[in-house]
Amino acid sequence: MDYKTGKPKDEDKTKKDLQLSVYALAAREVFDWNPARLTFYNLQTNQAVSAARDDKKLNKVRAEIQEAAADIRAGKFPPKPGFWCKYCDYESICPAREQGAAASASGEE
Ligand code: SF4
Repeated sequence: MDYKTGKPKDEDKTKKDLQLSVYALAAREVFDWNPARLTFYNLQTNQAVSAARDDKKLNKVRAEIQEAAADIRAGKFPPKPGFWCKYCDYESICPAREQGAAASASGEE
């Protein structure tokens, strides 16, 4: 169960959501549980939307996570600047921010 605020998730998003898939993998691997369904519960609308994950889907997500972890370990983790940067705790040390600041200082954009 993932409690949310903001725009409610629909069934399609719930079926595809990576975060819920990661929770399902963690439930299996850490607690030895096999969740029958994964649910977004919107606290503002009191709506619950649930979806299941089969082994095929969870194996695909596991492979994606392992690939991302390997890229991070290899230093292949380029920053992706966007509107979300204003909420980021790492902005002061972000290479994209430093490059943008350097470009601004030299008159580039
Ligand atoms: S400031 Fe850098 S690390 Fe933070 S969200 Fe933006 S691109 Fe990502």
